[in-house]
Amino acid sequence: MEDLTTTLDADILVVGFGKGGKTAAHALADAGKRVVLVEQSADMYGGTCPNVGCVPTKMLVHYATARHLKDDAQEYFADSVAGVRALTSAFRAGNFDGLNGKDTATVITGEATFQDEHTITVGRGQDRITVTAPTILINTGSEPVVPEIPGLTDSSHLVNSTELTQTSNLPERLVVVGGGYLGLEFASIYRRFGTQVTVLEANDRLLPREDEDVAEAAAGILTGDGIHIITGARVTAVRDDGAVSTVVYEKDGQTHTVEASALLPATGRRAVTSELRLEAAGVKTSSDGSVIVDEHLRTSQPHIYALGDVNGGPQFTYISLDDARIVLDHLLGGGERTTTDRVAVPRTLFITPPLATVGLTETQARGAGLNIKVARENVADIIAMPRAYTVEETRGLMKFIVDADTDLILGAALLSIDAQEIINTVALAMRHHITATELRNTIYTHPSSTEALNEVFDKVVRA
Ligand SMILES: Cc1cc2nc3c(=O)[nH]c(=O)nc-3n(C[C@H](O)[C@H](O)[C@H](O)COP(=O)(O)OP(=O)(O)OC[C@H]3O[C@@H](n4cnc5c(N)ncnc54)[C@H](O)[C@@H]3O)c2cc1C
Repeated sequence: MEDLTTTLDADILVVGFGKGGKTAAHALADAGKRVVLVEQSADMYGGTCPNVGCVPTKMLVHYATARHLKDDAQEYFADSVAGVRALTSAFRAGNFDGLNGKDTATVITGEATFQDEHTITVGRGQDRITVTAPTILINTGSEPVVPEIPGLTDSSHLVNSTELTQTSNLPERLVVVGGGYLGLEFASIYRRFGTQVTVLEANDRLLPREDEDVAEAAAGILTGDGIHIITGARVTAVRDDGAVSTVVYEKDGQTHTVEASALLPATGRRAVTSELRLEAAGVKTSSDGSVIVDEHLRTSQPHIYALGDVNGGPQFTYISLDDARIVLDHLLGGGERTTTDRVAVPRTLFITPPLATVGLTETQARGAGLNIKVARENVADIIAMPRAYTVEETRGLMKFIVDADTDLILGAALLSIDAQEIINTVALAMRHHITATELRNTIYTHPSSTEALNEVFDKVVRA
């Protein structure tokens, strides 16, 4: 039989087109290295974030918030999904052309599997491409975990986040299993589009990592928008009953049911490694399947690095980007950057208004025995922040934890319009030891949301 194998020798092989892999691929190709990047799907150039993650969901947040009650819910939703598709396909094309257009870079479409510690193959029909490289970057991301609930995987109403953002049919009744980041974002988006939404959360309260007052304020906003949140609920079975599924759950020893026309498990994501044949390369994984790395993101094979969700770190695009900075520093620079340099990493839950947090909560700070002051104000009461009134979103609160001895900021929870922007200023201040007094005294533009810092910090600085 004719051998249809093509062999490519590269300086750098990148497996997966995620944020970290593509950022590193660009920089290494610009540095004159021969880079080959393998992506399994032509629908995924650029990875999860621009295709099925951050970009489509945040655009849906935007559309859902802009919806008027007079709009026909189904028609408006279908138009919104069309808008999302147009943007994501433009981003996808830009990602492919931007990298493949470089003289020193090649993008191959197909699933990569390891043959040995320097070789992968990509099968394409009868053709096979073999790529060898002295340095390999694994950037294959994560995938949703479907919990083991009888009847769930067989349900015709089971959806994942990708399917939900790509269907043009607005579900009438969405049941979300799990009230974490992804679950609450979807609950908030679809409720605002007009869907009846129920969130079933096993914990006794939402957002257990946040302080109780912050979690309660967020839950109050979500329930105020009409989302039915049931905490302490353990889903035990799913039964398809024609046009809907019946979701059975237990709460306080009683059995209850809720009907779903779409059922979204949002109970976490795991590293995509099962098809890679990592054992052929001698790359070790942990029990959850994520690739084990050191602080330079080197795997058990020092010439193979793992970036992004696949290495088991925090599942955010900006962490994958920072992974690329660390790997690039190791390959092209002095190798000083490590994952241990990360302090004050902010995060945002994109409900409406968003909840952005950084550093310690009040509970954590008190638990650590720190001498703290707490500045807390409801957004509606912050006189220095008229922006909340000008955009008609005055819900939420701002809370800062300040070290009473040093005046340094230890943490913040901002449930507020523009929280996803303000939190970056706070995180920067924390990283560079800028005090609460300095943040209070800084000049900010007007009317902006950052101005709130002038007022809210005033409470602890003068106290
Ligand atoms: C719905 C949703 C919303 C999100 N919203 C946010 C947000 O607002 N902000 C934020 O920071 N993060 C958000 N995230 C998380 C964020 O998208 C991820 O953390 C980030 O995209 C991970 O990037 P990565 O570099 O690990 O790889 P990914 O972007 O996941 O890319 C991995 C790529 O590898 C490919 N691949 C897998 N196996 C193979 C193989 N064997 N061969 C070749 N290619 C392969 C995949 O097809 C994929 O394209 C969201 C995630 C989801 C699902």
